[in-house]
Amino acid sequence: MNNLDKDINDLKILIPEKDIQNKLIELAEKIEVSFPKDEDVFVICVLKGSVMFCADLVKHLKHNVQMEFIRISSYGHETKSSNNLQAIDLTLPNLTDKNVLIVEDIIDTGLTARFLTDLFKIKHLPKKLLFVSLLNKKSARQIEIEPDFYGFEIDDKFVVGYGLDYKGYFRNLPYIGYFP
Ligand code: 5GP
Repeated sequence: MNNLDKDINDLKILIPEKDIQNKLIELAEKIEVSFPKDEDVFVICVLKGSVMFCADLVKHLKHNVQMEFIRISSYGHETKSSNNLQAIDLTLPNLTDKNVLIVEDIIDTGLTARFLTDLFKIKHLPKKLLFVSLLNKKSARQIEIEPDFYGFEIDDKFVVGYGLDYKGYFRNLPYIGYFP
C-alpha cells in the first residue's frame, strides 16, 4: 500500500527517452564552448529533481568536472509552486573565481532560479556562472528570468519522470510524462 493517487497506466509521455538523450548532447556542446577551455567546471546538481538530468549531462562534458549537490524545496507534495523556498542543504566548497554550472530540472515560476542565481553570484563570487534547465515552462513565469540554456519548452502542466516527482514517485522513469 502507498499514498499514491495516480496510476502509472494513466501517464502520457510528453518527451520520450530518446529525445531527452539527444538533447543532452546538444546542450553539452553549447555548455562546452561557453566555459574557458582547459579550466575546471563545478557542476551544481540541484536535488532532487535534477539528479537524472545532471548525471546524464556530465557524461557528455569534456572539461574537468567536479560535481556538487544542493537541495532546495519549493513544492512539498503539491503540484503548484508554494512560492516558499527552502534551502535544505547548501554545503558547498569555496567557488570564488571558479567556473560554475547550475543544473536544474525545470524552471516554472522562476523563483528557484532567481534564488539560486542570486545566492551564487552574491555569496560565491564565481568567475563564470551559467544556468541550464532541462525544461522551461515559460508561460508559468512569475518573475523575469531565463536560463542560459534549456532543453525543452513545455506548456504549464505538471510533469513527472526523469528525476521529477509526484509525491516522491515517478523520478525513476526514463521519460517525461503527465497525467491528463
Ligand atoms: P519554480 O521555483 O521555478 O516555480 O520551480 C522550480 C522547482 O519546482 C523545480 O526545480 C521542481 O522541483 C518544481 N517543479 C516545477 N514544475 C514542476 C513540474 O511540472 N513537475 C514537478 N514534478 N516539479 C515541478
